[in-house]
Amino acid sequence: MAGIYIHIPFCKQACHYCDFHFSTSLKKKDELINALSKEIELRKTEFKNTTVETIYFGGGTPSLLTNEELQFLIDSVYNNYQVSENPEITLEANPDDLTVDRIIKLSKSKINRLSIGIQSFFEADLKLMNRAHNATEAKACLEEATKYFNNISLDLIYGIPGASNAQWLQNIEMALSFGVPHISSYALTVEPKTALASFIEKGVIEDVNDEQAHEQFHILKDKLEASGFVHYELSNFGKDGFFSKNNTAYWQGKSYLGIGPSAHSFNGTQRGWNVRNNSKYIRALELNVLPIEIETLTQTDQYNEYIMTGLRTIWGVSIQKVENDFGLDYKDYLIEQSEIFINQQLLYIDDAHIRVTKKGQFLSDGIASELFKIN
Ligand code: SF4
Repeated sequence: MAGIYIHIPFCKQACHYCDFHFSTSLKKKDELINALSKEIELRKTEFKNTTVETIYFGGGTPSLLTNEELQFLIDSVYNNYQVSENPEITLEANPDDLTVDRIIKLSKSKINRLSIGIQSFFEADLKLMNRAHNATEAKACLEEATKYFNNISLDLIYGIPGASNAQWLQNIEMALSFGVPHISSYALTVEPKTALASFIEKGVIEDVNDEQAHEQFHILKDKLEASGFVHYELSNFGKDGFFSKNNTAYWQGKSYLGIGPSAHSFNGTQRGWNVRNNSKYIRALELNVLPIEIETLTQTDQYNEYIMTGLRTIWGVSIQKVENDFGLDYKDYLIEQSEIFINQQLLYIDDAHIRVTKKGQFLSDGIASELFKIN
């Protein structure tokens, strides 16, 4: 089983916190879509004996593409790959693009899952982050989308400066009121060279508060678990049967092709990065050249990657798998390094798997890095 990720590198405006790859000029949209289709075609040999089970339009803002443009790319996949009977096809969409008419048309297409970038239902939060939508649009689009799609995820951001824990709880309750079966939620992080970083440096916006983010993470976890969601990955909560197949495959180390500028690919032993520039990407594909850099992962890289993703998920790190895939030395190293965190009640071992405790969950990336092997 494998997945195809298609990166749509356009946005209406730059959110202040964002360091993803996108352009706010749509001038090259047609050329870029043709280049995406060309890359899909050129890379079909990589999935010769593999069935595609998920297609994921991420970005950027994929909902800036018309239904016809999205269909053209889906057709490119179907024309070049073996696709399973009921693939999960996700579209990341922003509320301001999801008019009633658009939602109805999308519901008649092959797209069967929407991941909606709500982020917050509070006007002040949306303004601070420079989102292109407002709170009314956020609610209206969910009202309509839930009538036509049963598989919907929404994104929420916590740890926003000035947003109290009480407001955060209201955000979660508002999200729950729409009955969506999946929620992804991330702490607002200050990435270097973003507008947010510069506003904080100049004192225009107060800095993010890690302690408050930690508290809000637990408010989220408690509220969603009490509402029947499974916390299956650090930032992801789903009702049974509604975990993201695309992301789960990624966390379980399955292969995926990343199509588009800045997209990443993985085939079990190699990782690839496409060029992070729309013009260079288009030019290369016009010449039938793949604008990709490939790195072969060492055994240590693969072990580190498994520890990082394993600790973020409910599946944990299988001690047996570490021994089988990496050898006894790695297994002994893992158990030895884990001990201090087990004593601090941040990790526990159950059924030959190492997992983070509730107390350790928010810290899982940091804990994972302490279990890494250094080459
Ligand atoms: S819409 Fe998404 S990708 Fe575009 S700037 Fe905002 S956060 Fe970044």
